[in-house]
Amino acid sequence: QPELAGDFGTLMEWADKVRRLKVRTNAETPNDCRTAREFGAEGIGLCRTEHMFFDAERITAVRQMILAENETGRRAALAKLLPAQRSNFVEIFEIMKGFPVTIRLLDPPLHEFLPHGEDEYAEVARAANVGVEQLKQRVAELHEFNPMLGHRGCRLGITYPEIYEMQTRAIFEAAVEVAKSGEAPLPEVMVPLVATRAELAIIRQLIDATARKVFEELGRSIDYLVGTMIELPRAALRAGEIAEEAQFFSFGTNDLTQTTLGVSRDDAARFLTAYVEKGIFARDPFVSIDEDGVGELIRLAAERGRGTAPGLKLGICGEHGGDPSSIAFCEGAGLDYVSASPYRIPIARLAAAQAALKAR
Ligand code: PEP
Ligand code: MG
Repeated sequence: QPELAGDFGTLMEWADKVRRLKVRTNAETPNDCRTAREFGAEGIGLCRTEHMFFDAERITAVRQMILAENETGRRAALAKLLPAQRSNFVEIFEIMKGFPVTIRLLDPPLHEFLPHGEDEYAEVARAANVGVEQLKQRVAELHEFNPMLGHRGCRLGITYPEIYEMQTRAIFEAAVEVAKSGEAPLPEVMVPLVATRAELAIIRQLIDATARKVFEELGRSIDYLVGTMIELPRAALRAGEIAEEAQFFSFGTNDLTQTTLGVSRDDAARFLTAYVEKGIFARDPFVSIDEDGVGELIRLAAERGRGTAPGLKLGICGEHGGDPSSIAFCEGAGLDYVSASPYRIPIARLAAAQAALKAR
């Protein structure tokens, strides 16, 4: 670990001896995964698969899938995406050997995948074998006024299950491939933007059925977990019943802050500075957990979730997972791990140690 050599490395070793919270990373590229490992990440807490979909080589197939008029059209595009997804996961499992890898199923605001400009329309039209005008009509049909509150997260998996099926297949095929040449990976499949137990139950069934199919086809099975993001107030309130379908919760505090405060995470900067200056908020709630609101929901969800499932694993993967005061909050709330972007791992390790010492 060259970056953490010398006195700083020694300080980190001391921190690791006293901290209780595990520190994972939010990463999806091999480079970020490697960097995070060098900084001491103990696994991946959030692999955002939509970032893999933005890759220039596959965006046309992704657009073809989103714009398809029916399941057959979507499946044709998904078949093109499966090998690339599988090799993404093989690479990540290899780098993260021995550590858990939480892979979140697709959660894009759909508008981010739509084509722009004539060239992109022409390319998708060619790939899907449809006319440009027909595509434009489809884009108009998919228009949403509030994409962040729209057809994203598990809502996409409920309406287009074949997308989550392809991703789940890619995860398990990759896991078996890696296991056959060495240590078995520890995949944790995470469902985004869940509000109700029924949503999670439907998607969990799909995940388990796909796992069974892949393991039978490949003649080897892998241990895995299925869990959910808790990033909507309703999910926090109903955590007791959601925990019956989940083996872990990961608090998505970016969306949870947005939905609890009713403040757009993309536009907040325009007035939050003034709010902090005037003392309305002690700190920027998108940086440090708003303990009275969002924090209360986290504590409540942890308590209700563990009330149902005492061993429920709890983590946080919003940006707050790399913020020292939020990490202190997570220690107090009894979470098992925080997940932060790669360059915040050393800070998170120190903050976790500090929080543990204070709690003594
Ligand atoms: C979150 O909402 O906190 C989260 C981690 O997910 P994303 O930022 O990708 O919405
Ligand atoms: Mg989110």
